[in-house]
Amino acid sequence: MDQPLSAATRRASLEALSAETVDLLVIGGGITGAGIARDAAMRGLTTALVDAGDFGRGTSSRSSRLVHGGLRYLEHGWLRLVFESSRERGTLLRIAPHLVRPAPFLFPVHAGGRVGRWTLAAGLWLYDALSLFRNVRRHQGLSRKGVRRLEPALRDQDLKGGAVYYDAQCDDARLTLATLRSAHRHGSRIANYVAVTGFEKAGGRVRGALTLDRVTGARRTLHAHVVVNATGPWTDLVRRLDEPSATPLLRPTKGVHIVVPRHRVGHTEALTLTSPLDGRVMFVLPWGDLSILGTTDTDITDVPEEPLADVDDVTYLLRSTNAYFPDARLNLDDVVSAWAGLRPLLASPGATSTAAVPREHRIVESASGLVTIAGGKLTTHRSMAAEVVDRVARRLRRLDGRSVPRRAATDTEPLPGGEVRDLDLIVRDLVDEGMEESLARALVSRYGTEAAAVANLARREPALSRPLLPGQPVIGAEVVHQARREMAMTVADVLARRTRLFLEDPHQAVEAAPAVAGLLAAELGWSAEERDAQAQAYRDEAARMRTAITPARPA
Ligand code: FAD
Repeated sequence: MDQPLSAATRRASLEALSAETVDLLVIGGGITGAGIARDAAMRGLTTALVDAGDFGRGTSSRSSRLVHGGLRYLEHGWLRLVFESSRERGTLLRIAPHLVRPAPFLFPVHAGGRVGRWTLAAGLWLYDALSLFRNVRRHQGLSRKGVRRLEPALRDQDLKGGAVYYDAQCDDARLTLATLRSAHRHGSRIANYVAVTGFEKAGGRVRGALTLDRVTGARRTLHAHVVVNATGPWTDLVRRLDEPSATPLLRPTKGVHIVVPRHRVGHTEALTLTSPLDGRVMFVLPWGDLSILGTTDTDITDVPEEPLADVDDVTYLLRSTNAYFPDARLNLDDVVSAWAGLRPLLASPGATSTAAVPREHRIVESASGLVTIAGGKLTTHRSMAAEVVDRVARRLRRLDGRSVPRRAATDTEPLPGGEVRDLDLIVRDLVDEGMEESLARALVSRYGTEAAAVANLARREPALSRPLLPGQPVIGAEVVHQARREMAMTVADVLARRTRLFLEDPHQAVEAAPAVAGLLAAELGWSAEERDAQAQAYRDEAARMRTAITPARPA
């Protein structure tokens, strides 16, 4: 499909879907659903995907943003998962070099810590071996002095040494979006803000879904030969629309991250640490001038649409980090933002703690034929998707005898924007055309080769080359680009997921909301009232996040 992903194609897709029966309907536009739609469309199936909100607004924009083998999993003996994740890390580095970047991780060892030097050395050898020694680089052991040289601000007391190993950092929300755009290019019909509210059945078999368009209020029935439920933490809620007494497959847990200015922590590398409070593995990750600290892992009893961090989560992360960077003395005033995600973990009655719940996935089929994929990781989404589509292919063969190709080139075809591996080449082109280097780098890290399209918009209309917020390398042309090619439908779609200003600006970029709403209004045909209501909805979202992490004052 040559048409870009926009509000206009959304409308056209939904109209077309009301009148046709597709081979596969995917419910959920997180990374799992996106991967399935891409794989299916690349194998030639007619495919559609809907999400109740924006793409990735669930867990897939709220992760630790790591594409990793999962060093921690070695402790639990999950070797197959580490092997698969390591292979997928290599694949994603290849097909999305602008969004998935290799990064060194320092693992320091302190006396009395949960992981000793020899255990770490053995673990890292195994970690390299499980990637068949094809990771970006092999790990290196470090003496105490070596660790000090890399991270002088790290607690010196009881420091024994450590090691550097390699994984990758990514922009989870944009990886999800790029995967969906690839599916769309291969013909999949895709729409955000369309919730599945029930199932269409014939002879007791699922033959489609009842949907509510949250933009227009329209209700439609979408027909499909096979329907896949890929709704992450909401999996069991959707299964119950088909089978009200379905036993839960998941035991979701909440994971929180906070963002603080990097200079306040004083680190340069990504660090893997074990929290002195409870021994959990945690990360201190560089993100431009900021640091991401995460994560927590707590059981939850219900699955809210918009999970929020709370003061206890934030305090745990600040205290754990302060134990390693004692001079930082981080406190609540340092917190730029916080996010909470829900892990779609498989229910595992034998697990003794949330950390011990396997990160594997399961594919199940209900009596009426609804296929559900539960569990998994951002890193392994591509191989999970291939398994799901194999299952769909078998169903289609039984249905009408057709044969579906066994594999698609999902591991070699670049995602949109990832066609050039040497990103410096694209940056240099933009700089040669007169763009400031910091902006060129920022655009390339978001759009890869498509940064040129954003630059063209800015060149044609100079007002669009202005930053949305002073000092931040995010410009007006991006809003227009995102509305025309990335189906941005709300202010938060732009500021929270397609760019990450919501999380990167200490005031959640509320100052930029009116300008973004104005640009979207021109693209999407909003009235003045709607434009103002959209800006206000964004401010309300920012206020909810802030309030949740602000300690209650005594009355
Ligand atoms: P989601 O991204 O949640 O997508 C489900 C979608 O379904 C949502 O967009 C939702 O709107 C939609 N939906 C729900 N109900 C309906 C309905 N009725 N109709 C239509 N749509 C519906 N993995 C890694 O590999 N690396 C990491 O560093 C990492 N860190 C993590 C850190 C945390 C704190 C958490 C919570 C998870 C982390 N993970 C990580 C795991 C990874 O993020 C998830 O496994 C993955 O994002 C799940 O994607 P998903 O598509 O299954 O679910």
